[in-house]
Amino acid sequence: MTEKTKIKVIRRIETTVETTVEIIEDNDLVIPEEIKGYDYPMMMTLCPRCAHEYYDLDDHIIKRVNPYQLYKDTCNKCGVRTGWDYFIYSKSEDEDYDD
Ligand SMILES: [Zn+2]
Repeated sequence: MTEKTKIKVIRRIETTVETTVEIIEDNDLVIPEEIKGYDYPMMMTLCPRCAHEYYDLDDHIIKRVNPYQLYKDTCNKCGVRTGWDYFIYSKSEDEDYDD
């Protein structure tokens, strides 16, 4: 490989990496910050039934890690069914927030 070709290859890789990062940011795949009044999220794989328990809780926020996730995993809660990866935010106990 000539020096010129090498440089071209490296440029091509750099462009690909940049494009990938942009796609990730567009798809909200970045690790989220804590939401005001909530702790830094923990990641869990949840089946629809177990995920629903969090949706019903007032002091929790639940968000899909990757809406484009293709393969389901075993649920971390029941260990029986399969589901998607979620970020679970639980309300911070340190401070009081009035909304
Ligand atoms: Zn489950």
